[in-house]
Amino acid sequence: MPRNPRYDILFEPVKIGPVTAKNRFYQVPHCTGMGYDLPHSVSRLRELKGEGGWGVINTEYCSMHWSSEDAPYRLCALWDDNDIKTQSLTTEKIKRHGALAGVELWHGGNHSPNRWSRETPLSPSGSTQHAVFPMQTRAMDKEDIRNLRRWQVQAAKRAKRAGFDIVYVYAGHGYLPFQFITQRWNQRTDEYGGSIENRSRLLREMIEETKDAIGDTCAVAVRLAVDELLGADGVQAAEEGEAVISLLAELPDLWDVNVSYVDNDSLSSRFGPEAHQEKFTGFVKKLTTKPVVGVGRFTSPDTMVDQVKRGVLDFIGAARPSIADPFIPKKIDEGAEEDIRECIGCNICRAQNNTGVPIRCTQNPTMGEEYRRGWHPEIMNPKNGYAEDPVLVVGAGPAGLECAMSLAKRGYDVALADAARELGGRLNFEPKLPTLSAWVRVRDYRLGQIAKLSNIEIFRESRMDKAGLLESGYKHIILATGATWRRDGVGHNNYFAVPGMDRANVLTPDDIMKGKSVSGDVIVYDDDQYYMAAVIAEKLVQAGCNVTFVTPGLDVASWSLYTDEQFKVQVRLMKLGIKLVLTHRLAAWKGDHGVFACNYTGAEKRINGTTLVSATSRLSDDALYLDLKADEAARKEAGILTLKNIGDADVPGAIVHAVYAGHKAAREFGEVIDPDQFPFKRELVFVK
Ligand code: ADP
Ligand code: SF4
Repeated sequence: MPRNPRYDILFEPVKIGPVTAKNRFYQVPHCTGMGYDLPHSVSRLRELKGEGGWGVINTEYCSMHWSSEDAPYRLCALWDDNDIKTQSLTTEKIKRHGALAGVELWHGGNHSPNRWSRETPLSPSGSTQHAVFPMQTRAMDKEDIRNLRRWQVQAAKRAKRAGFDIVYVYAGHGYLPFQFITQRWNQRTDEYGGSIENRSRLLREMIEETKDAIGDTCAVAVRLAVDELLGADGVQAAEEGEAVISLLAELPDLWDVNVSYVDNDSLSSRFGPEAHQEKFTGFVKKLTTKPVVGVGRFTSPDTMVDQVKRGVLDFIGAARPSIADPFIPKKIDEGAEEDIRECIGCNICRAQNNTGVPIRCTQNPTMGEEYRRGWHPEIMNPKNGYAEDPVLVVGAGPAGLECAMSLAKRGYDVALADAARELGGRLNFEPKLPTLSAWVRVRDYRLGQIAKLSNIEIFRESRMDKAGLLESGYKHIILATGATWRRDGVGHNNYFAVPGMDRANVLTPDDIMKGKSVSGDVIVYDDDQYYMAAVIAEKLVQAGCNVTFVTPGLDVASWSLYTDEQFKVQVRLMKLGIKLVLTHRLAAWKGDHGVFACNYTGAEKRINGTTLVSATSRLSDDALYLDLKADEAARKEAGILTLKNIGDADVPGAIVHAVYAGHKAAREFGEVIDPDQFPFKRELVFVK
């Protein structure tokens, strides 16, 4: 289909200093958890953004010097000439597709604990280090500052030799040049401290010197956090933000502006909508003639056009939207915008990075598998074994939907059966909980694709049992029948059933999601410690309940620390007036009160409640699978050749796990999988 002319403006070329981007789609720097350890993996990941049509594609944070490293988290580096070859792998692949390659040169200052290099961490004023680490930082003297400026220039020169078109001076996300700008960290009394002119002096010098070194052929971009959302304690758009942009307005070739810290920049959809940064960054274009890029989880082409037309941004910056769908530009260009796999803002991608492992994505199961498994986000492997056989997928939750869609895209004929009338499984319930509405995109993208495929037959309200499956005539059955929240209290902190959980006033998240009404004093017990109990608690408050939230965690929804949401979740529950009881495990339910034991001393505490909602762990709904699997003779007689159990029915997990399992099952169907062979390409360090 031809492109909708309404979107033409997004495909205009834009000049950035000495280089020109072919369009306004700008993949801002984002972490991959791969860095210099997995150069082939990261270069292939970036290449697919090129294939998907992005005009500019950046690296993740790329350390300019070993006095700034972030082990065990993986970053890029341009420390010496060895790194040039590594980085060239990426630039060469990006440029193959006509995109510009950018590099975000990084010095973390007080955000670089240097656990690996053991170099002394540096900072403007020797303030306490950010990372959890019993070591502070050294206040930089003039020699340190001269060194830093030289390191930026040396790394910029290496970047140019590695083939980068855009080189960053990075003053965002609380890193070193930014630390000089904020008074919180810069209490110097020399020409680098005090007035905003002085506090932005280092940034000015770094921009000027980078331009002198490589500005003839490379654009010099600045990434600046214009607001930290800390009020007067931090940098504010109306104060330092405006002042720095005004002072340095025409110096860089491009302004890449955002809010800090990462939890505000990569704001999850639970805490803000698309384009949420405009109210902070919207002023920038008024102060400079240089192109401006900003982010805001942009997935709608109409919003993108609106940002450009209203003069908010010149480039549509995207990290997460480009992770969920590396082909957004191409799809818009080809009039296929309804095929965009929209980011749901769940921040699972952030959680991967925050736990030091390669990136994955809820919406895009191929993310992180581009090189090692050779998966492409838009192209499935063609059908292979059992080419003529139709496949029955039972269960249309995230696993079943993804599996059926992907099998059909491979060319197989697929039947998708679900007991319910509405396809979606857990995706019909969870997105209706407070703050989770954007998650419905996981269902809607797949239903949209399935509707376009002529080789999927849907069977609604079709609960399958063993006899039905044996009689169905299908030789290949994939079960994706989901999981159910446990009622007995077993979970992370109780290995055996908790006494009293068989009482009628013990409910699970499933009960609440399916509409069970509750009133009075409710205890929400969160042993799961991700999102579910917190959103259930909020729903119950909305329903008028008086909620006490009890968890063995050190804080509320502890695991959401990794999705950069924990702090915001806790603030939200506190503002809702929910009483919090931390570090206590459910020991018994007595009908009108719970007995909770302290994690540390075992001391017991009585908490009264008329209802207990228990979010501990889930049980796979795998009875059908186990029954069929056990009856080999019946399967043989029925002609069933392959049987697989996937998603929550195999092992309960987050939505990301179910989607991935569905995709993997589809990719592997009819292929020879040798369980004794390593399943993907490893990037090995060889000993010569
Ligand atoms: P997952 O996250 O693994 O995809 P869900 O719990 O979201 O799992 O979805 C499971 C789906 O399977 C639900 O829509 C449910 O109605 C359906 N289902 C469960 N058991 C059967 C069955 N025996 N026959 C047909 N559909 C089933
Ligand atoms: Fe978006 Fe979630 Fe994918 Fe991250 S993991 S890109 S937030 S859908």
